[in-house]
Amino acid sequence: MKKGYFGKYGGSFVSAEIEEELKRLDEAFCRLKKDKVFLNELKTIMRDFQGRPTPLYFCKNLTKKIGGAKIYLKREDLNHTGAHKINHCVGECLLAKHLGKTKIIAETGAGQHGVAIATVCALFGLDCDVYMGTVDIEKQKINVEKMKLLGARVVPVSAGDGTLKDAVDAAFEAYAKEYKTAIYCIGSVVGPHPFPTMVKFFQSVIGKEVKKQVKQKENKLPDYVVACVGGGSNSMGIFSAFLKEKSVNLIGVEALGKGNKLGDNSATIKHGKLAVYQGYKSLVLQDDSGNIADAYSIASGLDYPGVGPEHAYLHDRKRATYVAVSDTEALNAFYTLTKCEGIIPALESSHAVAYGIKLAKTLSSDKVVVVNLSGRGDKDIDFILNNQKTKD
Ligand SMILES: *Cc1c(COP(=O)(O)O)cnc(C)c1O
Repeated sequence: MKKGYFGKYGGSFVSAEIEEELKRLDEAFCRLKKDKVFLNELKTIMRDFQGRPTPLYFCKNLTKKIGGAKIYLKREDLNHTGAHKINHCVGECLLAKHLGKTKIIAETGAGQHGVAIATVCALFGLDCDVYMGTVDIEKQKINVEKMKLLGARVVPVSAGDGTLKDAVDAAFEAYAKEYKTAIYCIGSVVGPHPFPTMVKFFQSVIGKEVKKQVKQKENKLPDYVVACVGGGSNSMGIFSAFLKEKSVNLIGVEALGKGNKLGDNSATIKHGKLAVYQGYKSLVLQDDSGNIADAYSIASGLDYPGVGPEHAYLHDRKRATYVAVSDTEALNAFYTLTKCEGIIPALESSHAVAYGIKLAKTLSSDKVVVVNLSGRGDKDIDFILNNQKTKD
């Protein structure tokens, strides 16, 4: 397969100047990912700063309530800053340090990726510019304040709708100007090569840990691995260890939002069509004339019109199955897990939990389902409260 491609997906569609820099970045990454000193540093930070390995937790109560397969949660919510995003932020900041860069450029939607990157920049003493849509800045005041406290500069983006996809465009433009001193830290397994490969590498720690942990607890491989898919980083991270294990069913859960109509969901594998978008080729939500559609989901971390190229490829090859879960189903799972296990999941992760429950019900009790709990739900409490109010 051509470097940087997953079948017909992936690649790098950028200016010649940036192409040169991305080549240098890829070379450095390929060298460092085999470098013992680099890998030891990474391991130490992941252990002592982030709190890895995160536990694999058997949901005794939920399993009993559902009455089917055993349900396990991979507790990525217990990472420092509350989600899996810090896995690749730590990796990329360490890479930046080794390359002698002094600055990180990143984008954020709801602010989760922004807070994670600002946190790691504080740790490493790196300058940090986080591009964020003006609409999102208004909606996510606490995360904006957190980023500022951590020493990051939050750069407002008013172009377009002032949301995530506009922030990605603006961050890329800034990177094109500042690449000599800065590195771009994208929020998922998207963007031009080498970003999807790099982010997957740093997120693959999730799958490696799960493989060991399931072996210890169940003395076998899991039968199903379930994870939500926005851009696709937490899912690629947990899938990566099992891609060659044919007996393990991999299930990506997209956001069906309010339904199947264009604009009502973020189910890109289900409804997207081939396009080049933000420097890479993949499935993208678009109308019949090829205009990029607005994505929608109750979970802002899933609300993105593109999807990581490797997911589109795994879908084509039928190595992974992709399903879609609605806002309502995700909300129900949010309440169920909270009440039943005392774990408040992020609304993004609730999509995976919802499907995990649905699936476990249909399986016998000797089967094992691992659900990736990508993040904690503290950030969603305000939204949940307001939503309840409007419902009453
Ligand atoms: C950002 C985010 C996601 C979606 O991103 P992926 O790249 O698809 O993993 C999922 N869960 C949480 C908690 C997030 O913050």
